[in-house]
Amino acid sequence: MRHQVLDDAIEVDQAKRRMLNCHWRENMLFFKNLMVLKLKETKVLVRNIHEEIGHFSEKRTLAKIKKRFFWHDIIETMKMVVKQSQRCQLAKNSRSIRLSVE
Ligand SMILES: [Zn+2]
Repeated sequence: MRHQVLDDAIEVDQAKRRMLNCHWRENMLFFKNLMVLKLKETKVLVRNIHEEIGHFSEKRTLAKIKKRFFWHDIIETMKMVVKQSQRCQLAKNSRSIRLSVE
């Protein structure tokens, strides 16, 4: 039980600190200098960036996004978008077909 209380205390402390790092600017919520997005906006944003930079890998797409944006499931969202990207899936499939032929 003590541990539960301790965990709660840490969680509250972290939440408080997060709040302090957040501020509003021109109707947008920022975390430190990163823009915090609404959940439904994140998928569209990731897809746009991923396509804009030329269907880069998850790692490179993430690096690009992390410079400016922040949200809780940033990695999950990004993986999902790359997984749903038709061009990436086609490239992946043709690679594995080539490999199996060779
Ligand atoms: Zn792609």
